[in-house]
Amino acid sequence: MNIVIMGVQGSGKGTQSKMLSERVGIPHISVGDLLRAHIAEGTALGAQAKAFIDKGELVPDSLVIDMVDERLEQDDALSGFILDGFPRNDVQLAAMTRLKPIDHVVLIELDDETAIRRLAHRSECRQCGIIYGANRRPKQDGVCDECGEPLAERSDDQAAEAVRRRMALYHQETAVIADHYERKGLLRRVDGSGGAAEVFEEVLSAIGHPPA
Ligand code: AMP
Repeated sequence: MNIVIMGVQGSGKGTQSKMLSERVGIPHISVGDLLRAHIAEGTALGAQAKAFIDKGELVPDSLVIDMVDERLEQDDALSGFILDGFPRNDVQLAAMTRLKPIDHVVLIELDDETAIRRLAHRSECRQCGIIYGANRRPKQDGVCDECGEPLAERSDDQAAEAVRRRMALYHQETAVIADHYERKGLLRRVDGSGGAAEVFEEVLSAIGHPPA
């Protein structure tokens, strides 16, 4: 099952994608995570991408499209994937249509003010990828429940200006994507305002998967 998951930053799409990945047994492919991994590894792509990410701007399409294409061709993605953070504009949408057929586009809807409040409380474990926030707090402040590593704040979440710029971009560019998939009958809208477990039930139902 090929799934695209969409939602404003802070909507919980990363958390929902991880839960869905475990339930359905297909990989969660987050473009933001792939880019951050390139930065952490010090690749040439990472060096090019970092300046854009820090400013809250989209990384140039050519870089992102090649990176996604390569990832979707890896063995674990051949029987399905949850693609998070792509496509995000017209050019990427056209590329997506060429790359793979999509079965469901899950749009997690949340108003900006709630998303901003959630982002202000967000941290992640770089070791195991768990995202902590309003819906999931670590048992001990600043420490991952699973592996005990110190939690990191995402550097782009710290700058309020970058957050607002990212949200403005999201509304400008991704509304077109949602409209496109709505016309194709593939868009599944989910209310993201509840807790993670509640939203997950809605996500499962939206893709026609039996409930937990
Ligand atoms: P995210 O983890 O989805 O919030 O993405 C973090 C940052 O990575 C974004 O603010 C962009 O700078 C970059 N990014 C993520 N996905 C894309 C994409 N599809 N196209 C271009 N840049 C992206």
